[in-house]
Order: sequence, then C-alpha cells, then structure tokens
Amino acid sequence: MRLSRYFLPVLKETPAEAQIASHRLMLRAGMIKQSSAGIYSWLPMGFKILRKLENIVHEEQIRAGHIPMLMPTLQSAELWRESGRYDAYGPEMLRFKDRQDREMLYGPTNEEAITDIFRAHVNSYKDLPLTLYQVQWKFRDEMRPRFGVMRGREFFMKDGYNFDLTQEDALHAYNRHLVSYLRTYERMGLQAIPMRADSGPIGGENTHEFLVLAETGESEVFYDSQITELTFGDREIDYDSREQCQAVLEEFTSRYARTDETHDEAIFAEVPEERRRTARGIEVGQIFYFGTKYSEAMGATVQGPDGKPVPVHMGSHGIGVSRLIGAIIEANHDDKGIIWPEGVTPFHVGIVNLKQGDEEADAACESLYKAFEAKGLEPLYDDRNERAGGKFATMDLIGLPWRITVGPRGLKAGVVELTCRRTGESEELSPEAAIEKVAGIYAAL
Ligand code: ATP
Ligand code: MG
Repeated sequence: MRLSRYFLPVLKETPAEAQIASHRLMLRAGMIKQSSAGIYSWLPMGFKILRKLENIVHEEQIRAGHIPMLMPTLQSAELWRESGRYDAYGPEMLRFKDRQDREMLYGPTNEEAITDIFRAHVNSYKDLPLTLYQVQWKFRDEMRPRFGVMRGREFFMKDGYNFDLTQEDALHAYNRHLVSYLRTYERMGLQAIPMRADSGPIGGENTHEFLVLAETGESEVFYDSQITELTFGDREIDYDSREQCQAVLEEFTSRYARTDETHDEAIFAEVPEERRRTARGIEVGQIFYFGTKYSEAMGATVQGPDGKPVPVHMGSHGIGVSRLIGAIIEANHDDKGIIWPEGVTPFHVGIVNLKQGDEEADAACESLYKAFEAKGLEPLYDDRNERAGGKFATMDLIGLPWRITVGPRGLKAGVVELTCRRTGESEELSPEAAIEKVAGIYAAL
C-alpha cells in the first residue's frame, strides 16, 4: 500500500477522552472512530488488524476440529424465554420490538440460538461429538463502556459451543479448547494465563478465564509467578488425544492463578512467598463446561446407544477478538506509539523515502516495494511529500515492526537503513540484504 493512496487519518493531538494507552493509540493511529458510546467504526488499518486476528482464530479453531458457521446478530426473545435467561440477563441485553410487535434482542451471546439449531438437526449420538463456532458481533449494553474497544457495547467475539454425549467427552472438549486458546494467543504475541474463574450468568462449575497481565486491566488477579515461565511454543498436539490435551491443561492450570472472584487467601498462602503475585489483567477469553443446563431446558436430546433420549453435555467458549487489539497494544507500546508483534502487524514493513521526487530514491523505493510484494509481504510505502521527521513519527506511531529508510546519500554507498521498531536499532544493508532479512523473519513465524 502507498500511504498517499491509503486512508490513515492519524491524529497529532492526544484525544482527551482516552484514559489508557491502547485507546489513545488506536485513536491517534487512525484505527477506530467512536460513533456513540462503546460503538466504533473500524477504519482501514484497524479493520485490517481485526481481520488478521479473526483469521488466526479461524485457523486455530479449524486446526482443533471445530466447525465455523454464522448466526444472526438479532434474535427473537422466545428462545431466551425457553432457557429462562430472558428475565435473568438484565439491562445489558438490548431489547426492542419489530414492526409486528415481536420482541427481539441483539445477541449478547448465543447458547440459546445454537441449541435451537442443534435440536432441529441432530438426533443421534452418532453425530457427536460436535463443536460449532462463529466470529460475530455481539452487543451488551454495558453500564460503563470505556477504554475504547476494551469494553465496548458492540464488540467482535468468537463464540463456540460443544455438544457431547457424556460428561467425559465434554470435558475433553473443554481441555481441547484450552489448548487451542493457548496457541491462539501465543500466535498473537500474547501471554494469556488461564485462571480459575466464576461462571456468571452462563452457569456451570468448570470455567477458566484467560488473562493478559497489564496495569490497566480491569480484573485483579493472584498467581504463582512460575506460571509466567510457561510457553506453549510450537509443540504438535493431537487434538483428538485426551491424554495430550489433559496433560497440557494440567501443566497450565496446576499452579495458583485466580481472578478476584475465585481468589482464596488460604490456598494462595501455600504458594512460596517470593512467587506470590498480585496484579491486574485483561480478560481476553473464557471457556465453560455447563453440562446439560441448556439442553435440558430446551429439549436438546439425542438418541443414545441404548435407543433412549439423553440430553447432551455442552460447553461454550469465547475469545474477545476486538478487545484483543487493545490488549496487544497495552502489552506492546512505548511513548512513541504501538509496537506490533510480527504475527498481527497490519503491514509487514514500512518504507520511508527521505527525498520524494529524487529519481534514484524513488526508483529504489519502488523496487523494494515490488520485491516485498513478490515475496508475499505487504509493505506500507510512505511516498508522501513530507519531511522525514513527520514520516518517522507516523511510522513509529502505527508501529510496524520493521522500517526501511531510503535516501540519496545511502544509495550512493549502496545501502538502505533497516530499523527494528521494538529495539530502535538500525543497520545499514544493501537493499537485497534488507529484503532477505525481513522476508526471513516473517517466513520463520
Ligand atoms: P467481562 O467480565 O469483561 O464483562 P464477560 O466475562 O462478561 O466479560 P464473556 O461472556 O466471557 O465476557 O465473553 C467472552 C469474551 O468476550 C471475554 O473474555 C472478553 O474478552 C470479550 N468481551 C466481553 N465483554 C466485552 C465488551 N464489553 N467489550 C469487548 N469485549 C468483551
Ligand atoms: Mg468472561
């Protein structure tokens, strides 16, 4: 993309309404624009990252054997009356009537909708196990929408639902989700720690929330510092293997890690003092096993092996895709701007032309641009007629991990400058070597 032809409305001033870094930087980098409280337009660069995160979520869900689909954002109140949640959910649910006076709502979550689909089409235990998921907009009329996309009213979320014949099968689905979530967050450059949580209005006893540690997080968390040393890495997991999924779950959940809702001082006191940590965290996902709560209330049964109908065991699982962008920025920024992890960056490399209009500099930038495209990478070329300082400030603000600076003086010596956004370190290389180095970094992801 050439910056002169893109739509990147960066702001010079720091917006007064933004209290935390990610909100401030998303506004300043021209990623989002508020349309009303907790509701945002996703401008091109913000949208690009949202799509990237969505793709990672899809890839990891499909890898785990889960099946993508899409349900509507608007639902009828009837289904929610069947489960008993229409009255239980409270004012966070946005309710309205259509022209026929039918009660409708904007889905805050979809347990009822998916159970309705399931009971209409699945009759036999032979069709199990089944896990369906979607990535779709949700609406919750939050009392205090704030921190930009972190606590929006309209937000983008992956929600998945497993249907199993037995509790044992459903617990395998639970473990499988935990493993796939660990992989998902790591690909986004984040450490998200599974913590024992409270199930809230969804119900059920088995539930973990995934938290990214950050000072600006809304949850208070308590954990054993050993847990932050764990990484999932590039291990190969067979998602059908109960033993393998169970082993990962045990590895990542055996140390103390709880949110304030489930925190227990007495148990925490057993953790050696030097490893006890109290911190703040951002909730970026949650998994639940809730047994037959919805299937019994809504008649989602299958014919079991003995011919008798049995209610299916269910769980649900969510990833806050739009909130994750805020979490990634909270964990990856400095006073100049965002620092995107390579796995989610909107463009792979920035090209800064120090002297737009100089024949040699223009030609060198063009050829770098084409060479990156030929390698399947997306460069962002700042081809505007602007001062170098302004171009650098924009690149630092939008946070591309690598920048190549091209100017007449360097070109005379046959070099361009390659700069790492995270370390700030620069080196002079031939254009070919710079291309190879950047391409190699992305190829290794
Ligand atoms: P919270 O406790 O933050 O209100 P929740 O526990 O009600 O969230 P879930 O029902 O578990 O949320 O939804 C799954 C994920 O969706 C959450 O882990 C979070 O990342 C994201 N999410 C929930 N509410 C919002 C919101 N208002 N804005 C943005 N993301 C949200
Ligand atoms: Mg939650």
